[in-house]
Amino acid sequence: MKDRNSGHPAPMDMFSRTISYLRLSLTDRCNLKCMYCVTEDEQKGCLVKLGREELLTYEELLRIVRVAVEMGISKLRLTGGEPLVRNNIMDFIRQLGKIDGLDDVRITTNGVLLERYGQGLFDAGVTKVNISLDTLQRERFADITGVDCFDRVWRGIETALAVGFSPVKLNMVVMRDINDDELPAFAELSRKMPLQVRFIEFMPIGTSTRWTRDTYMSSDEIKARFSTLGELIPQEKQQADGPASVFKLGAGAVGSLGFISPISHHFCDRCNRLRLTSEGRLRSCLLHDEETDLKSVIRGGCSDADIRETLLTAIRNKPKGHQMADRLKEDGADCHGRMSRIGG
Ligand code: SAM
Repeated sequence: MKDRNSGHPAPMDMFSRTISYLRLSLTDRCNLKCMYCVTEDEQKGCLVKLGREELLTYEELLRIVRVAVEMGISKLRLTGGEPLVRNNIMDFIRQLGKIDGLDDVRITTNGVLLERYGQGLFDAGVTKVNISLDTLQRERFADITGVDCFDRVWRGIETALAVGFSPVKLNMVVMRDINDDELPAFAELSRKMPLQVRFIEFMPIGTSTRWTRDTYMSSDEIKARFSTLGELIPQEKQQADGPASVFKLGAGAVGSLGFISPISHHFCDRCNRLRLTSEGRLRSCLLHDEETDLKSVIRGGCSDADIRETLLTAIRNKPKGHQMADRLKEDGADCHGRMSRIGG
């Protein structure tokens, strides 16, 4: 990717937050069926997916990204579904690399195809890779994801490290009685491997979620599980940390631990994100269901100025924050839409 900025200051929302980060859900398709993304029936059987014509084409996506970058957005994350299952994904990423001003392209992947694509992603200038991994146990991996391919994912992680991505972040969604017994094992990984192991609070997202109040664990509770493992040494905040608070488990640790607390210590006042769902809808808050239909705008024969205006409207309408923590105390909470379409 080119190390150039468009020169435009990033747009600001109504609460003086700078919106410099766009997340693209490239497809709702995935080669895994994780228990927090799909229902139990779907995990065993068939999933209804978006039709090809319902997804934005690469040309449409590139046009939107160009306009967004001209507006001052400089950071992009490719997600999904599983971004690496979309046809001709590497061509698309190489095209992104030609966009002036786009200096930071990241990807979130389940790692299944990283062994195959890791080198190509690095060569195409992808700057950072986040890999989702909720267990280190092969059988449990099959239970959580519906597919028995832990070893492949692990080779994907090794590939990401070997080709030179740094840091490689591992994202674990912590779920009580499902994988919380592995918290120490995940933490220990960060002692010997140059990984940032990040613990994400399980969020009540999507009609298919198996979230319950009991399954949810707060970051404070997660952190407390490490008290006997060693000292958690706070690390100075780096730009690449995003919303995570980062620690080292003992001074000699090669990697680090990150805690992401969207529910218990939400970071709405610093949120710099805008999302584009795989159906081409702009979503300015992960945990609010309001969306703006950008696909209809772009397919209605619009100008770049219209795209820009639609992006600005979504940014202006970005909610101040979510009240998920309060709602949890009352009657539970759920925001609709599938995580695979929203992109996490
Ligand atoms: N397929 C890619 C992957 O697995 O990383 C990208 C899509 S996935 C929806 C993006 C991220 O969202 C993953 O790290 C996943 O663990 C996380 N995620 C999905 N549902 C979640 C939930 N209910 N709470 C917290 N994180 C969630």
